[in-house]
Amino acid sequence: MAMGKAYHPRCFTCVVCNCCLDGVPFTVDATSQIHCIEDFHRKYAPRCSVCSEPIMPEPGQEETVRIVALDRSFHVNCYVCEECGLLLSSEGEGRGCYPLDGHILCKSCSARRIQDLSAKISTDC
Ligand SMILES: [Zn+2]
Ligand SMILES: [Zn+2]
Ligand SMILES: [Zn+2]
Repeated sequence: MAMGKAYHPRCFTCVVCNCCLDGVPFTVDATSQIHCIEDFHRKYAPRCSVCSEPIMPEPGQEETVRIVALDRSFHVNCYVCEECGLLLSSEGEGRGCYPLDGHILCKSCSARRIQDLSAKISTDC
């Protein structure tokens, strides 16, 4: 590729990484700045509330897969029980999220906390 100052008018470059976007998919943000898809997602993608990394589509995929719970976003693999680390995003017996007081918990950890809580309340009385 020629490295001269003159460039083809159709040869857009990404404002972040300067890669040439001629013939490859790109995205324009609200201020008309051209981004390659990857940088666009890195900049504007929702952040995972567990690892704080942007949630982006898997390589080769167009759609982002993310979990939204309690008004927070999660990577599929970050959506795990805070207590025991059980992956909550997969379907199956006993899976799924049972949030309690803003905590992401699996069914059994949630049930145990509720039990502890009600035990405390009954002894306090
Ligand atoms: Zn870029
Ligand atoms: Zn994450
Ligand atoms: Zn758990």
